[in-house]
Amino acid sequence: MGEDQQVCESEDSRGVSECCSKERKGKRLWKKVKYQLVEYHSLPGYLRDNEFIMGHYRSEWPLKQVLLSIFTIHNETLNVWTHLLGFFLFLSLTVYTAMKVPNVVDLHPLQADLQKLHWELLACLPSLTSMPTMDLLRSPSTWHITELLTNCLPERFSYSNHTDVCVLRSVKEDVANMIAHLMLRPITRWPFFAFLGGAMFCLLASSACHLLACHSKKLSCIMLRVDYAGISALISTSFYPLVYYSFMCDPFFCNLYMGSITLLGIGTILVSLLPVFQKPEYRNFRTSLFLGMGLCGIAPIIHKLVLFWNRPEALHTTGYEILMGTFYGIGALIYTTRIPERWMPGKFDIAGQSHQLFHVLVVAGAYTHYRAGLVYLRWRDLEGC
Ligand SMILES: [Zn+2]
Repeated sequence: MGEDQQVCESEDSRGVSECCSKERKGKRLWKKVKYQLVEYHSLPGYLRDNEFIMGHYRSEWPLKQVLLSIFTIHNETLNVWTHLLGFFLFLSLTVYTAMKVPNVVDLHPLQADLQKLHWELLACLPSLTSMPTMDLLRSPSTWHITELLTNCLPERFSYSNHTDVCVLRSVKEDVANMIAHLMLRPITRWPFFAFLGGAMFCLLASSACHLLACHSKKLSCIMLRVDYAGISALISTSFYPLVYYSFMCDPFFCNLYMGSITLLGIGTILVSLLPVFQKPEYRNFRTSLFLGMGLCGIAPIIHKLVLFWNRPEALHTTGYEILMGTFYGIGALIYTTRIPERWMPGKFDIAGQSHQLFHVLVVAGAYTHYRAGLVYLRWRDLEGC
């Protein structure tokens, strides 16, 4: 093999590698052009939804690029992340509720009652000064002392005068009433977990819809249906804790409200699956339907206030429900009016657009409802029916 041949081969291989690198560069450039963000006017009809968001659209990218775009900046990035973070928030709340909330029983009123009773006993019956002190009553693990008290004292004092025995009998009843709820199992959690499930489904479906809908017309149709079904699920399951825990002692109204909202929820999910429902011109109809469904909640809330007007828990939960309604109401208003982007088209393509504000308000409303749910659980855990 001569030197000439070697030079020739190396020139050849240089030529091939130059050619390959050019090809690679060309491919990369083509990819860049192909997966570039586009303007509103170059979108296919099914992706045109909000003309005030003028640029930064992904349009008909392959699924891999669409999935990877969760980590890049475009006009749906914050829509995806606001509800994805909301989903993780509700997932954590569900785990927290499942693990911790059955143990969250407010012992302070009970301890205050026991302390008061202790001092009353000491005042009535000075011979009781040898009894366990308040140090023992401070710890929940020493409840058995109150049981001992209720079980033994009347017999112990059976030789005392009649008044002492009567006082102790009434004390026994008081203590038995006070500790009775501690012997009860926590109230059923399923309506609360149904709401948490509805919230997680809604948030995850919405996040996936915003990420994937730009891939193709077919996927867009499927994802929009899932998104609207998620909103219906969130609204209908939000009624469950309110209705169940407010009316659990009145099976007629409990079943009436639970049945009505379940039928309404299923009906709305079915309507939202109709292809016509997803058209941009139905934006106001969609909002009115979801808003109307939410407004149905006014009936059980007023009914609850009539029944329990003197209960602090009823007022407390109603306060949260009004706050939740305010968040959802403002959210629906921003969603339909497309404020602020209609005032400055193109300025809110990446951040600050109406849909992102709407998403944040939905998460805030659902979280407010979660707080109301905790009040219901504590109320019914302590009181039962
Ligand atoms: Zn959305």
